[in-house]
Amino acid sequence: MKPGKESRLALGHLWVYAGEIASLDGHVDDGGIVDVRSLRGQWLGRGFINRKSTLTVRLLTTRPEDIGREFFQKRLAEAIAYRKRIVNGTSAYRVVYGEGDQLPGLIVDRYGDIAVLQTLALGMDIRKHTLVDLINELVHPSAVYERNDPGVRRLEGLASQTGWLSGEAPTEIEVQEGRASFLTDIARGQKTGFFLDQRENRLAIGRLVKEADVFDAFCYTGGFAVHAALGGAKHVTAVDISEEAINLATGNAQRNGVADRCTFMVANVFDELRRQVSTGTRYDVVILDPPAFAKTKDSLPRAVAGYKEINLRALKLLRPGGILVSCSCSYHMQEALLIEVVASAASDTHRTVRLMERRGQAQDHPIHPAMPETRYLTCLIAQVA
Ligand code: SAH
Repeated sequence: MKPGKESRLALGHLWVYAGEIASLDGHVDDGGIVDVRSLRGQWLGRGFINRKSTLTVRLLTTRPEDIGREFFQKRLAEAIAYRKRIVNGTSAYRVVYGEGDQLPGLIVDRYGDIAVLQTLALGMDIRKHTLVDLINELVHPSAVYERNDPGVRRLEGLASQTGWLSGEAPTEIEVQEGRASFLTDIARGQKTGFFLDQRENRLAIGRLVKEADVFDAFCYTGGFAVHAALGGAKHVTAVDISEEAINLATGNAQRNGVADRCTFMVANVFDELRRQVSTGTRYDVVILDPPAFAKTKDSLPRAVAGYKEINLRALKLLRPGGILVSCSCSYHMQEALLIEVVASAASDTHRTVRLMERRGQAQDHPIHPAMPETRYLTCLIAQVA
């Protein structure tokens, strides 16, 4: 590594960028294992290389151990043991969260009996079949599905690929999350089928909505909406731009016996918020869970304007004493910045807001303390006077 570039790794960060590399010595194919050293020759760790990627090396270990089947078995077993401690009352959760589990570029999710795999780094991708063997050995799923269609794979020179890697089963799976059950589609749904990262926040909102009129903006397949209705909400209005998501959401409300208290609409949230503000609609709870508006650092200023607009209009819809749930799943939109957005929206609407809770992604998406990139989800719960 170039001089001075090793301090981030010393703290535990797992990525070596192309621009930080002073020289590549020896021969190894992309996806193969390399040692990383400082210019003075100090050994910093071992990981896989991909010259096609700006994340040229992803470290796997800072100990001089062999990177083979046994290594991955140990790491996977650690990830599984951790979930045994923290996950309960749900049949859908993340078993491996990449860098947060010291397994860079690997995602494994569980939907009931089925495991869903994503290999987002070349080094993981070429070891896919070993990983599937190990998942079968350690998790015993009835089948393993590959959901390798995220765009980030292109940055690693990897093509889009989906299908069964082991066994076969229907891709529509009913999962349990606390009191709620949801039909998820691991082949066609967003991410690997469901937003597992919001699980604990959905459960938390379910406890705050007794007798409330609730608006669930960006509702996808009805996660927050169904939990709100089960939690005793008087009525839930929920909106998503995707007709397919709304169809699943409607089915999910029926599945949970709360369809009579839920109204789902296909609409653009920006238009719908504006319309409801103008017609004087009011709610006790408004949930904003938009897609990542800031995918890159450059798009942050525009994204901030988007977050500001929806938060501002949500505040206008809230009755005094009402609750705003404001989320962001953009890593670039850090918690402090989202708090600023809410504060400035409150000031513009002459409302007083107090933060009740600052939440993040569920515990099955553990944060690597030296890698801020692994903390991407913020969920603010605020009361509005
Ligand atoms: N709260 C959901 C996840 C929401 S993901 C859950 O817990 O499962 C974000 C959703 O926003 C996606 O379903 C996407 O279809 C929807 N979306 C994106 N842009 C939108 C827009 N302008 N108006 C309405 N919905 C939108």
